[in-house]
Amino acid sequence: MSVPLPALERLEARSTEIGGGILIRRALPNRRRRTVGAWCFLDHAGPIEFDAGGGMHVGPHPHIGLQTFTWLIEGEVVHRDSLGNEQLITPGQVNLMTAGSGITHAEDSAPGSGGRLHAAQLWIALPEHERRRAPAFRNYPHLPLIERGGFSVRVLAGSACGETSPAQVYSPLIGLDVASTGRAALELPLETAFEHAALVLAGTASVAGETLTPGTLLYLGTGRETIALRTDAAARVLLIGGTPFGEEILVWWNFVARTRAEIAAATSDWNAGRYFGPVHGSPAPRLIAPDAAGLNLRPEPAAP
Ligand code: MN
Repeated sequence: MSVPLPALERLEARSTEIGGGILIRRALPNRRRRTVGAWCFLDHAGPIEFDAGGGMHVGPHPHIGLQTFTWLIEGEVVHRDSLGNEQLITPGQVNLMTAGSGITHAEDSAPGSGGRLHAAQLWIALPEHERRRAPAFRNYPHLPLIERGGFSVRVLAGSACGETSPAQVYSPLIGLDVASTGRAALELPLETAFEHAALVLAGTASVAGETLTPGTLLYLGTGRETIALRTDAAARVLLIGGTPFGEEILVWWNFVARTRAEIAAATSDWNAGRYFGPVHGSPAPRLIAPDAAGLNLRPEPAAP
């Protein structure tokens, strides 16, 4: 006798703006679901075409307790951080920044980057025993690619179909970009202990029998052995998952912590110019953290 599959939840992303007036869809945190595995934030930016001289400009801002995970589909973005890294990310690459005990970074569309941007930026909550680790940054230009059923499956994080992403993460999780150029069908094996969710980044796809377009996160629960993906035309699906994150986290502005006191300390340190290092070379102004007196209101993160 088989165990019934978990119910599907369709979660609507919210539209909001990031630096430079770029409209994004924020799928996580969601009012009804704050995490999928350790994934605790998911912004889908674009695809958009900038006006002349436009682009994304997110000025220097701090992070603690998380990793930022950027998957670039179109455009070119320069990452700068307080460790002194300056890294151009181009399509097909992942930038993974481990904030740990604290880091500052800025992200700007590269000058002359063709006026386009299409990207997903995610955050990964660090588990208790890793969340104060030393900050680090890495660009991953080469990620495993699996061709199956008419889909190109890029392994962004974790393992799938025997291939493992080199991206350094600190809890069991998965991130896949599944793209088709036309009619395609695939029954993709899943880790049954993971919970999963899917977000269409382009086109229309059938995921576990649900028709999805950009702007809706489909939560798939735990206990699935496979997932059915199908497209009739070019489409792109982001699949994320992981072991349900067993820790209560507090996500506030650009910080992931456990207590309000930690958030308040990080906020006042940042706004006073203490603790967090500077970023050099970013054309955009330093961001100011909102007043930590609003902590009990649990404001949404403001920057990617
Ligand atoms: Mn950021």
